[in-house]
Amino acid sequence: MSNELLYKRTNFYEVADEAEINAAYDYCEGYKTYLDECKTEREAVKYSIKLAEEKGYKPYSFGMPMKAGDKFYYNNRGRNLYLFRIGSEDINNGIRIVASHIDSPRLDFKQVPIYEEGGFCFAKTHYYGGVRKYQWVAMPLALHGTVAKKDGTTVDIKIGDEAGDPVFYINDLLPHLAKEQSAKPLGQAIPAESLNILLGSRPLNDTEESNKIKMNILTILNEKYGIVEEDFLSADIFVVPAANASDVGFDRSLISAYGHDDRVCAYPSLTALFESDASEHTLMVVLADKEEIGSEGNTGMQCALFTDIMGAITEAMGGNLYTVKANSKCLSSDVNACFDPNFASVYESMNAAKINCGITMSKYTGSGGKGGTNDAPAEYIAWIRKIYEENGVIWQTAELGKTDQGGGGTVAKYIAKHNIETVDLGVGVISMHAPYEVVAKADVYTAHKAFLAFNIA
Ligand code: MN
Ligand code: MN
Repeated sequence: MSNELLYKRTNFYEVADEAEINAAYDYCEGYKTYLDECKTEREAVKYSIKLAEEKGYKPYSFGMPMKAGDKFYYNNRGRNLYLFRIGSEDINNGIRIVASHIDSPRLDFKQVPIYEEGGFCFAKTHYYGGVRKYQWVAMPLALHGTVAKKDGTTVDIKIGDEAGDPVFYINDLLPHLAKEQSAKPLGQAIPAESLNILLGSRPLNDTEESNKIKMNILTILNEKYGIVEEDFLSADIFVVPAANASDVGFDRSLISAYGHDDRVCAYPSLTALFESDASEHTLMVVLADKEEIGSEGNTGMQCALFTDIMGAITEAMGGNLYTVKANSKCLSSDVNACFDPNFASVYESMNAAKINCGITMSKYTGSGGKGGTNDAPAEYIAWIRKIYEENGVIWQTAELGKTDQGGGGTVAKYIAKHNIETVDLGVGVISMHAPYEVVAKADVYTAHKAFLAFNIA
């Protein structure tokens, strides 16, 4: 009886048998490939479309007819992707939505980036999202991006990740001369304007120009990509860590990679959708852009495209949009802070995500007195508890940290405001927003299980 009275978090390894542990590890091989293929939102859209097309998803444009069983994707400007599958039940019963984001904190090239100084050529950057600047210096970096030329063509740049590629670099100060820097607060030690990318040092000698090193880099860029300096005015060039995903630890139970936030939710949302063909519900997966800077713009979750697509589905299936929204359910799938014993003081242990204890639900996010959160209602959480119990999903609840320690938000509130039941559910991450973050394979696998149960329940 006492066991029934008490709530206890479940550790995956306490209940999973050898076959399920192997299934979790195997599942994460696909996830690691996804991480390596998708270091930017553009790459995530392209690769996710490839996976979806293999599962029979077809491109959708507004006005197309739909019928039960149809599987569509809508590519929004190459940076935001909607996937949806029409169910057999009445559309007025609502849509089951899993929404995650595919942008991650990084450094972006400025519009006029390239300069020469002190015998080197550098590129100026502007950081994107919640970057801790001191983490980005003195490590191998890669460049990923797209240059849009005046003639309407685009050139993709991806260099630094493959064996044999050169990498890029941000200089840091040697400890011998860092007395002043070391005394500064962490957030001020590396100013944003010192996050300059080392591009080269070799001068081009047969030029009249004074900037011989820069001229040499521009010559190489022109030969390799057919671009000139002015083309950077219309370019999205992102600086991301060069290394790919790796297992961590002798037991290989963890994965380190760039961009777990939030591909660790995006990938399971896709795999769960692809396994949900038998569901009677209409299902939607949103891979949003711009979450790290407030879900702004026409590829972010605040864009009206979200309700436009819901409206298009409703219209094609003969429903009423007000009814569909009122009856829809959403998992805002984004990462949470995993309890880290090295920094135990910022967590409130009873309400912190624990490693290997499954996907984490956050009833509320925000900061201070729940500022800026949709605070999911108890009734919706009770429904999720029931379906997870019925489907054997290992899950836990958590807040981001101690009350008043800080805070954060997700896309949840931008979905909930459309009169859609929404709660946050995602994987706990160690060193969130660092160039290399860590997650547990068991937790990634439970994310897949959790989204699958949501889709079919
Ligand atoms: Mn996130
Ligand atoms: Mn984030």
